[in-house]
Amino acid sequence: MAVSPDDAEHLAADVAAEFGATERTVMGLLRDLLTPGMSRPGWARARTAAGGLLRRALRRLIPGLRQRATAAAEQAVTQAYRIGDRAARMELEQHQLPAGPDDLTVTPTQRLARALVEDFEPVYARILRQPEDVYREVIARASEGVLEGQITRQRAAQRALDDFADRGITGFVDSRGRAWNLHSYVEMAVRTVCGRAAIQAHTDRLTAAGHTLVSVSAPGGSCPLCTPWEGKILALTGPAGKHDMRLPHASAPGRTVTVRVSGSLMEARAAGFQHPNCRHSVSLYLPGVSVLPTAPPDAQSYDSVQEQRRLERQVRRWKRREQTALDDEARTAARRRIRGYQADLRQLTRETGQRRKPQREQITYAH
Ligand SMILES: [Zn+2]
Repeated sequence: MAVSPDDAEHLAADVAAEFGATERTVMGLLRDLLTPGMSRPGWARARTAAGGLLRRALRRLIPGLRQRATAAAEQAVTQAYRIGDRAARMELEQHQLPAGPDDLTVTPTQRLARALVEDFEPVYARILRQPEDVYREVIARASEGVLEGQITRQRAAQRALDDFADRGITGFVDSRGRAWNLHSYVEMAVRTVCGRAAIQAHTDRLTAAGHTLVSVSAPGGSCPLCTPWEGKILALTGPAGKHDMRLPHASAPGRTVTVRVSGSLMEARAAGFQHPNCRHSVSLYLPGVSVLPTAPPDAQSYDSVQEQRRLERQVRRWKRREQTALDDEARTAARRRIRGYQADLRQLTRETGQRRKPQREQITYAH
């Protein structure tokens, strides 16, 4: 069994769900604190005065979230390392090869988990600050239309809340300068670290059992970044760059075979191979025995996978809108959009044979 960063997907979803739940609580708090007395003249003043309630409620959310998120992160990294180790053991077993020592060192997982927990700190700071800004902004935007009456005020408040529901808690920038919202930032952090832990364990296990080569899968419909490595052989250790190696045949004693190595795994990864969410896996390569994979002719195209992701994003977007709806009209409209995009998804998956991924259509999923 091969291992890919995609194996960490469900682990990341578990951790991100903790933050997603808090974000939904925050949206509910905003809606509940903004709704009372919306048709009455003193609304803006009364709501501004109630701002302290929001601040206190936000502060109460953090300790529990921190505790749950830290525990979930540690568990996810340990689990990811186990998945990678198990994958490598299964491969070795398939070829009736010894698995090496019982226990691999667990130090890397502790270090990875610590780094991940530190990645969460800016998130807590944003949760404390941004909803207050949004709260004030909703009041300000709703007050601009006050002279035209309550409908306008409610519409303006709804629009400001919708903007927030669409974006979620924002303000995160990664090392490449890309902006993320809370949920996608957390998910990406967990996926990156867990994917690394799984691949590390896989490499550790194969190395401990005395193997040095892996081959890259060819799932097809792949990301352009990884295509150059598809069906190629990579070295777990040793020099970078393309080179030929003369190695003993894995099942015929006394014979040797020439293996074309395309580079080291480390080199490929530095070039973007096995980025977060990557579906490419590596598996043990045995000289003279392993057959290199080629992409299936009916592989899903990159475009239709991207189209599925786009529709899933829309379903999540309108589910968040449903949550921040201030009245029934807005709620019904959001539900209609959700059903529309779900119908598109049904049609797309029927036509392409792609698997529908229900968890990606949940509001708890990163957006
Ligand atoms: Zn990839």
